[in-house]
Amino acid sequence: MTADGRRWLLHLSPLTQHDYWLSLERERLPSVDAGDGDPRLSAQIFGQASVGIALVRDGVFARVNEKFSELFLYESDDLLGQSISSLFAEPGQGRAVIDIVREALQHGGDVENEYFLRRRDGRQFWCNLSVRAIADEGGGFSEIWVFKDASLHKGIEDNLRQAAVVFESSADGIIILDARRNIKLVNSSFSRITGYASEEVIGKNPRMFNSGKQSQEFYERLWAHVEKKGPWQGEIWNRRKNGELYPEWCSVTPVRGSGGDILEYVMIFSDITQRKQIENRLRYQANFDALTDLPNRSLFIDRLTQGLVRARREGTTLALLFIDLDRFKNINDTLGHSAGDKLLVAVARELRNCVRESDTIARFGGDEFAVILSPIYGPKNASTVAQNLLKVLSRPYDIDGYEAVVGGSIGITVFPSDGTTTEELVKNADAAMYRAKEQGRNNYQFFTNEMQQAALARMNLERDLRYAVERNELLLNFQPQLGVACGYVKGMEVLVRWQHPRRGAVSPVEFIGLAEDTGMIVAIGEWVLRTACQQYRVWQDQGIAPPRFAVNVSGRQFAAHNFIKTVSSILHETAVEPACLELELTESILMKDEERVISTLNQLRAMGVLISIDDFGTGYSSLSYLKRFPINTLKIDRSFVMDIPSDADDVAIVKAIISMAHTLKLEVVAEGVEDEEQVSFLRDLDCDYIQGYHYSRPLGTEQCTNFLALEHSTRWHEGTQQIV
Ligand code: C2E
Ligand code: MG
Ligand code: MG
Repeated sequence: MTADGRRWLLHLSPLTQHDYWLSLERERLPSVDAGDGDPRLSAQIFGQASVGIALVRDGVFARVNEKFSELFLYESDDLLGQSISSLFAEPGQGRAVIDIVREALQHGGDVENEYFLRRRDGRQFWCNLSVRAIADEGGGFSEIWVFKDASLHKGIEDNLRQAAVVFESSADGIIILDARRNIKLVNSSFSRITGYASEEVIGKNPRMFNSGKQSQEFYERLWAHVEKKGPWQGEIWNRRKNGELYPEWCSVTPVRGSGGDILEYVMIFSDITQRKQIENRLRYQANFDALTDLPNRSLFIDRLTQGLVRARREGTTLALLFIDLDRFKNINDTLGHSAGDKLLVAVARELRNCVRESDTIARFGGDEFAVILSPIYGPKNASTVAQNLLKVLSRPYDIDGYEAVVGGSIGITVFPSDGTTTEELVKNADAAMYRAKEQGRNNYQFFTNEMQQAALARMNLERDLRYAVERNELLLNFQPQLGVACGYVKGMEVLVRWQHPRRGAVSPVEFIGLAEDTGMIVAIGEWVLRTACQQYRVWQDQGIAPPRFAVNVSGRQFAAHNFIKTVSSILHETAVEPACLELELTESILMKDEERVISTLNQLRAMGVLISIDDFGTGYSSLSYLKRFPINTLKIDRSFVMDIPSDADDVAIVKAIISMAHTLKLEVVAEGVEDEEQVSFLRDLDCDYIQGYHYSRPLGTEQCTNFLALEHSTRWHEGTQQIV
C-alpha cells in the first residue's frame, strides 16, 4: 500500500518489450506460442492487443497501439511527444501518478490502479492502469502503460454500494428471502417496525409474523401470483414482536437468475397504521354524526337504498319514520347551544334503545332524526315503534340542572304503498311529519294523499315567495297604538302583507316562517324597513306622522352581519330620525348569543333607535335579562290579554308584567286588545299603550293616511300637544 492508501502491485525484474507483449497476449490467448522471440510478432501483438498500450519515456508518449487510440479517441500520432498527464481527469493527478510510477519502478516494481481518465472528446471513464518498466533495445528503460476500460466493472461496484445504502437507510422495512423463502437479510427499518433484531429472524420463515387475520388461502394465492405472474402488492396484517397487530402495505418481488429460476424474493413493506387510522376517521366522519355517533343523513340514505333493494327482492315491507323534536329550538335559544347539544346526545341514546339491531336510526340534521324499520309486518308495527319513540321523547331530560321537556312529531311512510323510491319515501315522511306538527305536536301521522298536496303547496309557496319582492307583491299595513291615559296615537306597528297573484292575501304567519327557513327573510325584512321609513317620511312631510313607528325584526335578520349598517343607511337615505324607529324583537332573539346581542343592541341604542320586546311572556322569559339589555318597551302577548279580566291567572301575569316593567322604567304595550272591558282594566293597571282591533285594525297605506290626518285635525281642534 502507498501513503495515499492505494494498492500498488510490485513485480520485481523488468522484462524486455517482447516478453511483455507476450505476457499480455498470453493472458488473453493462452495458446499463443511465444517461444521464438521474433520482433515482428511483438509488433503484431502490440498492434492487436485488446487493451490500450502506450510506450512512455520520461513521462511522454513514445508510441500507442490501436486499442489505445480507440479508447481515448486520439490518432496514434497525435499524442507523440505529449505528456501522459493529459489523460487524467483530475487536475494535477497526472503529475502525481508519474512520480509514483517513477518511484515504484526505481525499486524494480510495477504499478496498477484505477483512475478516472479523460477521452479526447472530454468524456471521462474509469480505467484500470498498470505500468511496468521494460528494457529498451539500447539498454535503457521505458515504461509500458496499459489501460483497461473499467467503467462497467466500476459501475457495478458503485451500484452495489448505492444499493447497500438504500437498503439500510430505507424507511420501509426490507426482507430478502432465499429461494426456500427463509429470511436471508433484513434492514434496520424492519427491526424498527417489527421489533425483531436481525439475528432473531435470519433463517426463519416470515410466517412467524402471521397475525391470523389472513387465511392460509390468501398466502397461497399471494405466492402463486409472485411465482407465476411476478411482483405482488397489497395490504397485510402482521404481528410485531410485542404481540401487537398492525397493517402494512407490502410488495413481494421475485429475483430471477439468468436461467429464469427464482433465486431470492424481496419484500418491502411500510407500516400503514397511521394511514389506516386517518382513513377510518375520514370514513367515520363521512358517515356518522360527530355529536350523537348516529349514522348521518348520507349513510341513512345509503341504507335506505339498500333496504329498498332487499325489500323489493324479498317482497317485504319497510317503514321510514321521520322525527322532529318539538321544542328543541326554544331550549337551544334559552339554555344555549351546548345545553342543546347535550339534549340531542341524551335523546339519541334513548331513541337508539327503542329500535331493533337490524333497524337504522340516524340523525338527519339539526333536531331531526330518522328511522328505517326493515322489515315490518304491517303498519301496526310502525305505529307501535312511533308510540315508544314518543314516550321516550316526552320524558323530562336533566340538562345542566334544568328539566328539559321536548316531545316530538313523527311522520311515517311505508314501502311500497306510500312510495317506491328513496326520494319519494323521504319526501313523504317529511310531509307526514309536518302534518303531525300541525296536529298539535307530540303525535305521529302516516303519510296521506292530502299531505302530498300540502307539501306541494308549501314548495310552490316557497318558489313564489322568491319573486314576491321584485314583483311588488308585498305591501305594508299599519296598526295604530293608542296612549291609554291621553287617548292619542303614540305610534303604529308596521305589518307586512303578501298579495299573492292567485291565492290572494297570504298571512305573515304563513310566510314569515318559510322566509326564515329559507333565508329570504333578510331581503324581505330590508324591504319592509325601507318602505316603512319612506312612508313615515311622507307622513312627516305632510305633518301628520305619529311620534314613532315599530318594525318587526326576525332572528335571522337581526343576526345578519350587516344589520346595523342596513338600519343606519336606510334611516340616512330616508332622512328619518332614529328616535322615531322602534324595532320589535322576540325574546328568543335575545336568548341566543348574549354578548353579541347586547353589543348589537347597544349600537342601535347609541344611534338612537328604540327597542321593544314583542310577544312578551311567550318565550323563556327570564326577568334578569330585562335588566341586562338596553330595552325601551315590552309588548304583552295577545294570549295574556285575550282573557282578561275573566281569567285570574292572566290577570295576575299582566299585572306582574306591568308593575315589573315600570320598576325597570320600561313602557308597556298590550297587544290584541279587542274590547272596552280590557281597555278599562288595562287603564286601571296603568298600562301605557294599547294595540288591537278595539282601537284599530291594521290599515292599508291610504286608510292609514286618512286615519292620521283625522287624528291630527282632532288634536288640532282640541289644541293639545302631541305626546312623545
Ligand atoms: P306580531 O308582531 O305580534 O303582530 C301582531 C299581530 O297580531 C298581527 O298579526 C296583527 O294583525 C294581530 N293583531 C293585532 N291586533 C289584534 C287583535 O285585536 N286581535 C287579534 N286576533 N289579532 C290582532 P299579523 O299581521 O298576522 O302578523 C303576525 C305576525 O307576523 C306578527 O306578530 C309578526 O310576528 C309577524 N310579522 C308581521 N309583519 C312582519 C314583518 O314585517 N317582519 C317580521 N319579521 N315579522 C312580521
Ligand atoms: Mg310585532
Ligand atoms: Mg306580538
